[in-house]
Amino acid sequence: CRDIIVVGAGQAGFQAAASLREAGFDGLLTIVGDEPVAPYQRPPLSKAYLAGKATAGTLALRPASFYANHRITLRLGERAALIDRPVQQLELTSGERLGYDHLILATGARNRSLPVPGADLAGVLQLRTLADAEDVQRYLAGVESVVVVGAGFIGLEFASVAAARGIAVTVVEFADRVMSRAVSRPTSAFFRDAHEAAGIRFAFGVGVGRITGADGHVTAVETTNGRVVAADLVLVGIGVVPNVELAAEAGLAVADGILVDHALLTSDPSISAIGDCATFPNSFDGNAPTRIESVQNAVDHARCVATRLAGRAASYAALPWFWSDQGGWKLQIAGLANPHDLTVTRGDPAQGAFSVFCYRHDRLVGVESVNRPADHMIARRLIAERLPLVPDQAADLALDLRALIR
Ligand code: FAD
Repeated sequence: CRDIIVVGAGQAGFQAAASLREAGFDGLLTIVGDEPVAPYQRPPLSKAYLAGKATAGTLALRPASFYANHRITLRLGERAALIDRPVQQLELTSGERLGYDHLILATGARNRSLPVPGADLAGVLQLRTLADAEDVQRYLAGVESVVVVGAGFIGLEFASVAAARGIAVTVVEFADRVMSRAVSRPTSAFFRDAHEAAGIRFAFGVGVGRITGADGHVTAVETTNGRVVAADLVLVGIGVVPNVELAAEAGLAVADGILVDHALLTSDPSISAIGDCATFPNSFDGNAPTRIESVQNAVDHARCVATRLAGRAASYAALPWFWSDQGGWKLQIAGLANPHDLTVTRGDPAQGAFSVFCYRHDRLVGVESVNRPADHMIARRLIAERLPLVPDQAADLALDLRALIR
């Protein structure tokens, strides 16, 4: 394999190129990315960047010199339009064609838009890209009240940054609790209480009916049960849609994401897919087709593909893990906690430091730790190596968990 093209200059695309060079790949290496900037970290966009503790410069994954030194050609601000598989060429929207021996799709995901009247008013914003974050930052300066739509990770991270700036924040959430798709009830309850203590208000079990404005700018959100909440800014955080169109139009197998096998190969052996856009067999869940949106997943997928393309056998089996910073609380998740049928809490949520051990059919599937980083690191090993830990042990603070992984 002499010529590799990566589509998508995000976390996964960057890592694939960097790991390919690390693994000794010596051929031509090109990353095509439609954003105008070199690969950067997204997680701080809803955390340090909005809090004024990071800048566009500090978010860059590597300085420009890295790409030159590693002979990685960055084609930024350019979009891949189609894959001509029979001749192994990628066509850009400019019409230019690039030949490849192997193509890595790392196209990520885009934000789901809110399908209600008024969603196009100025001040109704989303958070995915640096450009989005710059918009949000600019708007936040003069704002007194915000409505966050969706109590997922990004919505809550944003809400806590806004509340810390003295802005009145209301979070509208369709489900009956925060982060309901990803975390257990005890962890949800803790974060709801913590956010309410910081002054954030919640409206659960309702959606947004419409958004109203004056002079083209948002002024309020009307919930589906008729409540009107004033807002100078609305942040929509209702999940993402994987960017699969390029793959689907090329005839590759696509479900929720681009379907890949254990080696992260698509239905075409010359094309891999990694990161947020890929649906892979999850070895921690009976090989169920799984799509994960996290830095860990993007990075470990990329490393696996780089290893394979450098000529060594590789099968993806990394344990999923994740983090989210909300207010002063650091949530870390090892494994995939949902679904589960039993939870055991270690430590005391009232003290602000605890872990929730989640079991499915007597098997430990996930551990959510709040301000207990040592538990998180141990939990990664316990789950990855399938080491036994019965619920009574998990709850027993007298038991040193480190003894189990020695
Ligand atoms: P992306 O980073 O989305 O990169 C894909 C790139 O491909 C994009 O630049 C896209 O524009 C480009 N692209 C798409 N189609 C084309 C095309 N046809 N041609 C050219 N380019 C194309 N994860 C965590 O683990 N912890 C966190 O705390 C956390 N916080 C987050 C906070 C925010 C605000 C956001 C947005 C995400 C957060 N994430 C977090 C998720 C994490 O950032 C993503 O899972 C990760 O970026 C996925 O990497 P990716 O390369 O698969 O996709």
